[in-house]
Amino acid sequence: MANPLLDHASPGDLADRGQTFETEGKIQDFKRLLEIVEADLAEVPAQLVPAQWRMAPVGIKLDFSWADSKKEFPALTGQVTANIAALCQRCLEPCEIAVETELKMVLVKESPRLKAAETAFSEFEVWELAEDTIRPLDIVEEALIMALPLSPLHSSRDLCGQLADDVVQEKSGTARPFADLKSQMGK
Ligand SMILES: [Zn+2]
Repeated sequence: MANPLLDHASPGDLADRGQTFETEGKIQDFKRLLEIVEADLAEVPAQLVPAQWRMAPVGIKLDFSWADSKKEFPALTGQVTANIAALCQRCLEPCEIAVETELKMVLVKESPRLKAAETAFSEFEVWELAEDTIRPLDIVEEALIMALPLSPLHSSRDLCGQLADDVVQEKSGTARPFADLKSQMGK
């Protein structure tokens, strides 16, 4: 079955159609996210890694519209939720982190219009697009990656593995894949 999240479309067309998506994906649909999590879990003994983490559901709600009455600035609002496997920074065993991120963005192609968009739509995040078209799935993936915590932890210390007491001092100052990624994105 064709997945419209994978189709390239211009944000203006999506806004004109009032395109909405309410669907469920899986972690494995997101290639870059998959690579990040795999890198994070690479050092973990295989028997500790949750077998089905790639199949965990990703809840996707997207709503395209125009941010302005002149229909110059396409807007995207929505919500993305997922439970993502990660390496707990307290015990160095896999944990599952609940990621929930709200989207409220204006999609802008031409750089000269970026400033105008930032001024006019201060309540929106302004996303600069490299291409004339977007794949909604790519925006969902970017939002998920941006929402990953720098220091994932088991939700309760009671869930941590036995290393928890030793790790805290030993690991401080160690670079992590998520941290590297976020600093690269800022450039
Ligand atoms: Zn832990």
